[in-house]
Amino acid sequence: MKYDLMHPRDQLVNIMNRIYHGGMTTLSGGNLSIKDENGDIWITPAAVDKGKLSPQDIMCVCEDGRIEGPHRPSSEYPFHRAIYAQRPDLQAIVHAHPPALVSFSIAREIPDTSIIPQAQRVCGPVGYAPYALTGSEQLGANIAATFADGYNVVLLENHGIATGGNSLLEAFQRLETLDFCARTLMQAKGLGQVNTLTKEQLAPFDARKNELPEFAPTNHSSRERELRQQLVDIVHRAYARQLMISTEGVASTRVDERSFLITPTGLDRRNLGVEDLVLIQDGQREQGKLSSRSVRLHQAIYKQHPDVHCVILAQSPSAMAFAISSSHFDTRTIPESYILLRQIPRIPHGKQYTAPGELATAVSLQTPVLLIENDCILAVGQNILQTFDRLEVAEYSARALIDTATIGPLVPIGGEDIAALEKAFNLT
Ligand SMILES: [Zn+2]
Repeated sequence: MKYDLMHPRDQLVNIMNRIYHGGMTTLSGGNLSIKDENGDIWITPAAVDKGKLSPQDIMCVCEDGRIEGPHRPSSEYPFHRAIYAQRPDLQAIVHAHPPALVSFSIAREIPDTSIIPQAQRVCGPVGYAPYALTGSEQLGANIAATFADGYNVVLLENHGIATGGNSLLEAFQRLETLDFCARTLMQAKGLGQVNTLTKEQLAPFDARKNELPEFAPTNHSSRERELRQQLVDIVHRAYARQLMISTEGVASTRVDERSFLITPTGLDRRNLGVEDLVLIQDGQREQGKLSSRSVRLHQAIYKQHPDVHCVILAQSPSAMAFAISSSHFDTRTIPESYILLRQIPRIPHGKQYTAPGELATAVSLQTPVLLIENDCILAVGQNILQTFDRLEVAEYSARALIDTATIGPLVPIGGEDIAALEKAFNLT
């Protein structure tokens, strides 16, 4: 799906559906707008069910002041207008009240995006706008003044969040990424000390030189085409299950001993197509496509482990709560967790840049899941479904562990019972 070729009405409905069905707004809360090249502002209507919006419901506040459409424009239109007046570079604004970001907004604390490099990069610094009456000119002035300082993401005191972007998708991705940070931080705080990255630790993310030389494939085998569809399906599923967000998560699968397929860098995971996947063959990438920045790590894993056929890197919030805190992820919770995850080593942050070979050595079918501190959870498997299952079990196990704290401490499966599991399932 190419948003830039869609009419603003269709983009607004599509993104509102993603926000509503992603649990980031209620039926009545939240509003989005797009500023057209001629100065018209397309905006979601007031008092219309956000779960059942159609393109005909979208309002247009024209450059000359006329209002077109069957409803009233959103009651928060004044602050959209005020932001566009201060920031002519912005083409779209997203506003919502996602529960996790509301928690930060009512505690009057800005979520720290330096928990993982990608979040920091997508959101940039987060601004803060003081409270004012909803729909008032004063609220508009407060929010616009913060955007005028150069922020693209602004937390609204006792209200919610507003983000801007060069496109509606970019503004949405900033909202979604900050919401991910908020959810992850809240879970991690329950586990103890939260670790964040310094400027020096964040720097290598963009500095990484990982573009492989190009080659032009002469044909695509049926096996490769089959795997393209499977890999795209699993990324969409990971998105739907909130194991990935639009800006985070990488999956790859081996095609044969010389080649593998990997997801591209920078594309919306929700709308990834089979044509977006990048074929890597003999250390070269398919012409005209940019593979994930972690391609060398995948390459090293496939090289060292002929029995590994799939690698997934993800940032699911509960597993990431362990990756950004110093708490131990104990897998001796239920048999399913121990059998699928085994013991999960922690890899110090930075190794993913400096020593992909070392990481490849740390992972195997016997140790199939790693936590890379302040970066991701990494899972490998014999096929795409098994690897995805590990990711899902890791997320569910992490969530259960975090939630258990409100009931009582974990009582792990005992040593003898673990030994019996290892024997019964041939885990050693
Ligand atoms: Zn609001």
